[in-house]
Amino acid sequence: MKRLQWPTRGACVVAPRVAAFWKDARDTRFDLRKLYTVKLSKSNVVHVSMAPRKRKAKQLEAEDSQDEEDRRKRRHGNKKYIGAHVGIQGGIWKAVGSCVEMGGSSFALFLGSQRSWKRPELDQTAAAKFREQCSTHGFDPAHVLPHGSYLMNCGSPKPDVFEKSQALLVNELNRCSLLGLSLYNFHPGSSLGSITTEQCVEKIAGAINHAHQQTPAVVTVLENMSGQGSTVGGQFSELKSIIDKVRDQTRVGVCLDTCHAFAAGYDLAAEGGVNAMLNEFDQQVGLRYLRAIHLNDSKGKLGCNLDRHEDIGKGHIGISAFRDIVNEPRLDNIPLILETPGRPGFEYAKQIELLYSFCEKQ
Ligand SMILES: [Zn+2]
Ligand SMILES: [Zn+2]
Repeated sequence: MKRLQWPTRGACVVAPRVAAFWKDARDTRFDLRKLYTVKLSKSNVVHVSMAPRKRKAKQLEAEDSQDEEDRRKRRHGNKKYIGAHVGIQGGIWKAVGSCVEMGGSSFALFLGSQRSWKRPELDQTAAAKFREQCSTHGFDPAHVLPHGSYLMNCGSPKPDVFEKSQALLVNELNRCSLLGLSLYNFHPGSSLGSITTEQCVEKIAGAINHAHQQTPAVVTVLENMSGQGSTVGGQFSELKSIIDKVRDQTRVGVCLDTCHAFAAGYDLAAEGGVNAMLNEFDQQVGLRYLRAIHLNDSKGKLGCNLDRHEDIGKGHIGISAFRDIVNEPRLDNIPLILETPGRPGFEYAKQIELLYSFCEKQ
């Protein structure tokens, strides 16, 4: 493929996507602003000139820290901890900085590769750096929600997969403790259609009890599912049956994913839908178990059982449910995490800003 050569100065016509990229570079706190001055005109012509003078770079830095300060002030006293799932490429501690950069107050992350069952030992230096970054930026462990490996199926009818899942669960909980974290979110599991839901629930609770015995205090947080295939946890009652079988109930909780709930048939798009869902959750499970929310719009329709996330306000749930969520006092002080596509022009930083702008209008 031919690589696009950027001019160091001059003008060129670019594809709309590339123009959007440069627009972003111009509008946001993106570092490229320090390298280029970019003007955009219609018909996707980008005018690029060389790096701004030092004075301009300083001015940009001052604007950036003013932005940061404004944001900090606006969020001060806000009990909503909105953030996003961030990457760990280049070192697990980098997740913290990525969250700060996008203006998040909470974040989620994977604890290792999603491809392999075997994990190398977590590097002590990396873990120390992570803890240090969290404390520097003032992240409470209760606002960081690691996401479990997708390989795991603690409800698997296949003995080898069940064994490996159980071992991985223990490994990941130990990682959380090393990182100074207190929560760990994972998908309960799937019966693969070859055992009953009850048998699957039994296995999942067994794996949790085993992991609790082997590891210190981290809370295992079950995520509600979309009801796709033979996954367990689409209905709140299924989450409750797992919790009922967990011996140490101080170490089990739930993370409600809005896309999954909608796909499983909980109508968040209806007026008062968020309130109704939380009431139902309270009745069936108990709000004391609610530890986090995954904020995702849904590409699929109500009850479609499809796990397809969409950017906030761009799917079938729609913006007003999210407005209700960020103004719902029952969701104070827990992480509210985006796992949306974050398409160009509507990246996580923008979705976080939008959601905070809703709470400010209270
Ligand atoms: Zn998940
Ligand atoms: Zn989720």
